[in-house]
Amino acid sequence: MATTLPNWLKQRAFLTPDREAIRFEKESYTFGQLYEAAKKYAHYFASIGLQKGDFAAVLLKNKPTTIFIIHAFQQLGVPTVLLNHRLTAQELNFQLKDSHAKLLVCDDEFDSLSLQLPNDCQKVLLHQIDLTSTSSFRSEYDLDEICTIMYTSGTTGNPKGVKQSYGNHWWSAMGSSLNLGLYEQDIWLCAVPLFHISGYSILMRSVIYGMTVHLFEHFNEQKINELLVKGEGTIISVVSTMLQRLLHDQTEPYHSRFRCMLLGGGPAPKPLLEQCRDKGIPVFQTYGMTETASQIVTLPPEYSLEKLGSAGKPLFPVQIMIMEGEAILSPHKAGEIIVKGPNVTSGYLHREDANRESFKDGWFHTGDIGYLDEEGFLFVLDRRSDLIISGGENVYPAEIEATLLSHPQVEEAGVIGVKDEKWGEVPVAFLVAKQRAEKEELSHFCRERLAKFKTPKEFIYVEELPRNASKKLLRRELRAIFLKGERNEH
Ligand code: ATP
Ligand code: MG
Repeated sequence: MATTLPNWLKQRAFLTPDREAIRFEKESYTFGQLYEAAKKYAHYFASIGLQKGDFAAVLLKNKPTTIFIIHAFQQLGVPTVLLNHRLTAQELNFQLKDSHAKLLVCDDEFDSLSLQLPNDCQKVLLHQIDLTSTSSFRSEYDLDEICTIMYTSGTTGNPKGVKQSYGNHWWSAMGSSLNLGLYEQDIWLCAVPLFHISGYSILMRSVIYGMTVHLFEHFNEQKINELLVKGEGTIISVVSTMLQRLLHDQTEPYHSRFRCMLLGGGPAPKPLLEQCRDKGIPVFQTYGMTETASQIVTLPPEYSLEKLGSAGKPLFPVQIMIMEGEAILSPHKAGEIIVKGPNVTSGYLHREDANRESFKDGWFHTGDIGYLDEEGFLFVLDRRSDLIISGGENVYPAEIEATLLSHPQVEEAGVIGVKDEKWGEVPVAFLVAKQRAEKEELSHFCRERLAKFKTPKEFIYVEELPRNASKKLLRRELRAIFLKGERNEH
């Protein structure tokens, strides 16, 4: 029998109706008001024919309305397909078709974009929604039911639709609170997109914990710093570029109530972590992905000195192992990170091939390479698909990129492996320069810090590096650029 829980939002609105749920600019909504708003939207979507089990997509910005609609679809039992509004029409078309979405709800400003999207899906713009009537819907959520479809960022290939169940979100919220604790005064600042798991998971925690979310349409370092100095935010989720901007702008120390800078999304540059340590900023490094419904491994600040660069230990409901083929590896041996836990997805939508490859005996194979130390702290090295094998040695592009980034004249760096007759593969670096350094100088700089086989054989200057809509480096496109250049030379 499937496990059910009370409808989270209904229960929260029943338990603490007057507690503040959402802050946004000058607006504020209680949990009672949030539930009432969600019911009105749900009534409207039901009135235009949306039924339990249909899939509905949203192309919406970070605003309270988006939160109302996300909860409205939960009221109806309609899985929400969360679209990234930074994608091109072609990329959106792929996700809409792949997910078989029956309805698409768009912010009014995406009106012209929506005209380029498939016609077989009904489109609704925000201003067309009629909110004059309301009704109540379900009283329970089934933990096995699909709540959301969220596409991976598409860094290693085409994005895959991840099926996230109510149970995945529930356990993700539980794991996070068992690790970070829960305080009555908590206010979680959300300046990350709601269409990513980083943002969506904050909404689920808010309702489950009864905690206020302060939502931002855009990330603005001055505004955020002001709140953190005043102590009007106790936790914030950031990626490293956001943290860099916060530190650059910060003039006053943060309030003692500010207790967690949750840093995730990708590898964290060591100099950034050192700067936070020196300023006494409580950084919690974290590792997670769309498939794990947010964090799965987190490093508390008391270890941030001793274990600098580690992503931490698994959250309470989670297990992790490092594997190579069929073998489970011992500490300090690098292999694929595999994870298991109730927050991990049951699989990708319509992707049996990827499911067979990634899910084995209840464990999810992440495609990332890392190792555990003797105490069980995880160190993430790189993506399996980007590993360079040079003369039998494993070379991790991320390590070379981090070294190049520490050069004062390098703005951005991307490293790939290219075919080499003698070594099998050798690393080649693509650079965006603040000021162009001589290639001999860069090579010398790397040689002083890295083994010879890790030193790039070529340094290629480019105007910009290829990145996806999540701003993640697309090394597969660098490979294509390199091959094209080679062809042109011959
Ligand atoms: P795709 O799966 O389509 O290639 P993606 O993996 O970039 O895209 P996301 O789910 O958004 O999509 O990102 C998760 C990935 O981000 C992880 O698998 C890992 O490679 C990387 N990542 C997340 N946190 C960290 C971290 N702390 N250190 C290093 N890498 C991280
Ligand atoms: Mg991935």
